[in-house]
Amino acid sequence: MSPAVRTRTEALTALSSTPFDLLVIGGGITGAGIAREAALAGYRTALVERDDFAAGTSSRSSRLVHGGVRYLEHGHLGLVFESSRERRLLLELAPHLVRPLAFTWPVYAGARVPRWKVRAGLALYDALSLFRNVHRHEGLSVADVLACEPALTPSALKGGARYWDAATDDSRLTLANALAAREAGAVIANHLAVTGAVRLANGRLAGVAVHDRIDDAQFDVQARVVVNATGPWSDATAALTGETHGTQLLGSAGTHIAVSRSRVGNRDAVTIVSPLDGRVMFVLPAGPHTIIGTTERPARRGPDDIRATEAEVTYLLQNVNRLFGDASLTRDDVISAWCGIRPLAVARRGEVNANAASREHAVTHRPDGLVSVTGGKLTTYRAMAADVLAQATREFSASGAAPVLERTARDSRQIPLPGGDFSSREAVAAQAGAVAHDHAVGEHLMRAYGTGWRRVWQYALDEPALAPRMAPELPYVLAEVRHAVEHEMACTLSDLLVRRTHIAFETRDHGRAMARHIAPLVATYRGWSAEETERAVTHYDADVSRLFAVDAV
Ligand code: FAD
Repeated sequence: MSPAVRTRTEALTALSSTPFDLLVIGGGITGAGIAREAALAGYRTALVERDDFAAGTSSRSSRLVHGGVRYLEHGHLGLVFESSRERRLLLELAPHLVRPLAFTWPVYAGARVPRWKVRAGLALYDALSLFRNVHRHEGLSVADVLACEPALTPSALKGGARYWDAATDDSRLTLANALAAREAGAVIANHLAVTGAVRLANGRLAGVAVHDRIDDAQFDVQARVVVNATGPWSDATAALTGETHGTQLLGSAGTHIAVSRSRVGNRDAVTIVSPLDGRVMFVLPAGPHTIIGTTERPARRGPDDIRATEAEVTYLLQNVNRLFGDASLTRDDVISAWCGIRPLAVARRGEVNANAASREHAVTHRPDGLVSVTGGKLTTYRAMAADVLAQATREFSASGAAPVLERTARDSRQIPLPGGDFSSREAVAAQAGAVAHDHAVGEHLMRAYGTGWRRVWQYALDEPALAPRMAPELPYVLAEVRHAVEHEMACTLSDLLVRRTHIAFETRDHGRAMARHIAPLVATYRGWSAEETERAVTHYDADVSRLFAVDAV
């Protein structure tokens, strides 16, 4: 049995035989964060994820850990305050995955948000971070704006401002939390779908039935408290496990596109107030690419097959073309387009405008003991987890005696995420780059793994065939494939090319050629037969068609 298969078998055996204190359904950022928090608190914790960690909304965000300038306009000051605190903390606990990002906010004549309002808003933004953001914001003259972002259209430019937030890698941040939960003692498994409830004679929820989608097996997992952290699926999960009490969720769909950065010419991030309709959006640097987004509309498809529309792609291109005068982007420039559903909590009666709806989260509980958490954002996952644990503790009392803690509780605010135990990003990247003889590879290894880059590179030292880049134009190396399978629970080609790496977002064929190229390698680590390898490639093809197809309307 290969090491990867053995690790999964052990996890499934533990899941089927252990009575857990707390079981989390859903391995997005919310569920992974709760599992880490619960395991650090000393509870016997389990997490089951139907697809892969971050396969839902948590791999389709704007990849920002941010206070949320957009929320200022809607008066969600409490959320901005909480988000700013979490941003500060994550910059410390995960310096590889969360890094400072400078934003230029250009203001043009006639803009919906005038210059004075931008300055006032950003002063409030600084204040809500207790003036402990990376740097305070600065007002910019026209010349200053163009010095920061020379590709911006100069005509009608009135000046602007520069402020700071943080960039992240959403799916790797989620994975880091899931792996940190495992390090702290949790039993976690991906590709394990909850299909129903396990109940006591008195009707109380005592666990869930699960389906192992890799080996097509079914078993039960016992737990005293079950937490529904399935984001846009949370109403469906509530229905799967018992009664629903009406919808808890307002699904708001958001699309991003990736284009070549050299075509746009942005240096850092740019905040745009759309000259077409006044909405705020971002132009974001992502290595050789620029990510543009996001739109916001009611979700017409469900979370399983949500996708971008041509109208959204056109809208994003039009906005960038208006502000970056020489870009002249066309549809052919779009490398990929994708869409995710924000799982907004239905906080106030009659609240239907997704743009104005709060990103604050809601923790609810059902009479049978199911705890559900909806809303929130990537940035605030740790705060959400703490609230869920407080509710879970009340549920423990309702279900009998408090659990006997197996370990001393530890504070998640004090413990770096895996690979985050370093102080100088430059030093780690330089070391990795020197060893790999490739500066860009070193930078990538630092950002993805932090100090864990050495374990990745060890595979290349042991097996020199794994040292080269996966593709000449991308900084990923073949050693990451083996590392992802053996250390990061990657089971499918999508796990590898959509979430452990982002090749599916970064190539026009969404990684299809790469999937065929690496499938034989993955087959050796996962023990696939020739037929299984062929099926994995076919499945990958279908999966990226689902994720990256664009609806005509
Ligand atoms: P998800 O990530 O969707 O996770 C739910 C998981 O539950 C999925 O992995 C799914 O497979 C699993 N699941 C479903 N059913 C079952 C079942 N039966 N059994 C087991 N598992 C199941 N926030 C920020 O802070 N910064 C940003 O820049 C940002 N940008 C955004 C941009 C867009 C376009 C969108 C849509 C959101 C953005 N957000 C951002 C918000 C943030 O991405 C989400 O709030 C967050 O990712 C939601 O995470 P989640 O874990 O609740 O849901």
